[in-house]
Amino acid sequence: MGKNILVIGANGQIGTELVMALRDIHGAEQVIASDINNATEAIRDSGPFEIVNVLDPANLRQVFEKYQPDQVYLLAAILSAVGEQKPKLAWDLNMNGLISVLDLAVEFKTSKVFWPSSIAVFGPHSPQQNTPQYCVMDPNTVYGFSKLAGERWCEYYHAKHGLDVRSIRYPGLISWKAAPGGGTTDYAVHIFHEALKHKTYTSFLSAQTALPMMYMDDAIRATLSLMDAPAENITIRSSYNLGGISFTPEQLAAEIKKHIPEFTINYSDNDPRQAIADSWPKSIDDSYAQKDWNWQLEYNLEKMVDAMLNNLAVLK
Ligand code: NAD
Repeated sequence: MGKNILVIGANGQIGTELVMALRDIHGAEQVIASDINNATEAIRDSGPFEIVNVLDPANLRQVFEKYQPDQVYLLAAILSAVGEQKPKLAWDLNMNGLISVLDLAVEFKTSKVFWPSSIAVFGPHSPQQNTPQYCVMDPNTVYGFSKLAGERWCEYYHAKHGLDVRSIRYPGLISWKAAPGGGTTDYAVHIFHEALKHKTYTSFLSAQTALPMMYMDDAIRATLSLMDAPAENITIRSSYNLGGISFTPEQLAAEIKKHIPEFTINYSDNDPRQAIADSWPKSIDDSYAQKDWNWQLEYNLEKMVDAMLNNLAVLK
């Protein structure tokens, strides 16, 4: 029997694509997708699926017992904007979900665990340009400090239990296959749908708000190469900075206009996501990822916009 890979939170923006990528590489039957909600069609039709609530210890244990996973990807979380509306739930899911999975991974001798962190671990006193791996971190969202605490737990389980847990601080992820899950960078996905449908978009972030972003293909490639890297190359057991592309809503709109000349953008005032964006880095230094596991970005702004519009146009 081959080695099983368990993905928890598989129906989301990342899971939808990561499950397919893992099934291509390892074989569909080896990749068990799981989520608190029923599977999406693509996931259900292509391999095994289990309903799992990561906050239900007995339910989670059953799945570990049944599949004895060799690798686990924990993607279930509450994202930044939703986290501010449901702070206690965000803390509970993002923290206790992670600790339960780490404990079971130690008990069941899971050989590798992947858990994503975020650029939300940085705060208003972190350097905002080319934010380094190590610096002041004073996140002021529940999402941000749950991710920062999660990073500490990951490093701790590696140090105390020898658990091979690996992590990336993803920037805002841009994709066309699944909708984003309620983050501060969601505008950079919504804008493409609206540009194709209505030729206009009202951004909830201001024109000059620069944030680090990444096209999903790059994010999946980064995740797989981090997980493939020899353990001795992984010098960071909290979470790796990953930079991506930094741009503002105005710059993104200008790039979309090259494809859809009649496209216009407006900006709304007083959206709570603006304050979150203002506390985050504008660009990220990911030199450790480059050095430790040969990370290189493929999609710049131009290539990402081209890919998004072409893929979404086929769907419409
Ligand atoms: P998402 O919100 O799109 O998906 C999360 C999935 O988890 C959903 O399918 C949801 O049904 C599931 N889930 C929720 N509660 C659960 C529970 N109790 N048990 C089991 N499953 C549950 O999120 P995403 O964008 O795919 O993000 C995945 C991970 O990557 C998260 O940890 C997130 O913080 C991190 N991340 C994402 C981004 C991004 O831009 N998408 C950026 C940085 C970090």
